[in-house]
Amino acid sequence: MALKRALCRWGRFLLNLLYPPNCIRCGGYSQGEPLCPGCQRELEHLRSTGMQELINRWRRPELDFLIAPFIYATGIKGVLIQMKNESDSRRLAYFSEQVANAFQDSGLSADVVVCMPMSRKKLRRRGFNHAELLAQAVAARLELPYLPGVLTMDDAAAVQHTLGRAERQKNAEKHIGFGSGAIQGKTVLVLDDICTTGSSLSVACRLLKEHGAVCTIAATIAITPR
Ligand SMILES: [Zn+2]
Repeated sequence: MALKRALCRWGRFLLNLLYPPNCIRCGGYSQGEPLCPGCQRELEHLRSTGMQELINRWRRPELDFLIAPFIYATGIKGVLIQMKNESDSRRLAYFSEQVANAFQDSGLSADVVVCMPMSRKKLRRRGFNHAELLAQAVAARLELPYLPGVLTMDDAAAVQHTLGRAERQKNAEKHIGFGSGAIQGKTVLVLDDICTTGSSLSVACRLLKEHGAVCTIAATIAITPR
């Protein structure tokens, strides 16, 4: 697996030398920009509004704030699935910038950044946790410390998107745990790629508060509309 990933990385590196990097969403020519003009327009249509923060706040009291620059809809699904399955520095750079900008625009501040966990079993299979890469990139942009291993997920956890709303909550409560990390008295920014029902994020935020966090802010690339 490691050899295959290394070969893929080399292949991509050589391709980038031969052909300049293209649009991160459709692969078309983008004049060196992350998105081609068509994809730029499509993603602009999916811009989230400040209301998402409030709506989510009423629904999930454990979460003090939720920030998501995009609405999760057909136009963004494909690129976010790609991001989950293959590590790509340009996709990561674009979306981490979008999340960091949305956070800065919110006027909120945080002390530390953590990520939603992935089970060891899944991490071995995938080779990376996309939420962790996003959290590290956002933390670097915001010049905040990233704390690894604060939240954990055990190997018995089911994949959230295969479950209904009630099952998601139970699955998250049963399998997400607190690892370690100095978060006492801190405002913690928790990163994930997508917020659908908010079950995992709310369990994570409750755990963070039980371990001393004074405020929890979740930030995701996209949020499911309601
Ligand atoms: Zn495009």
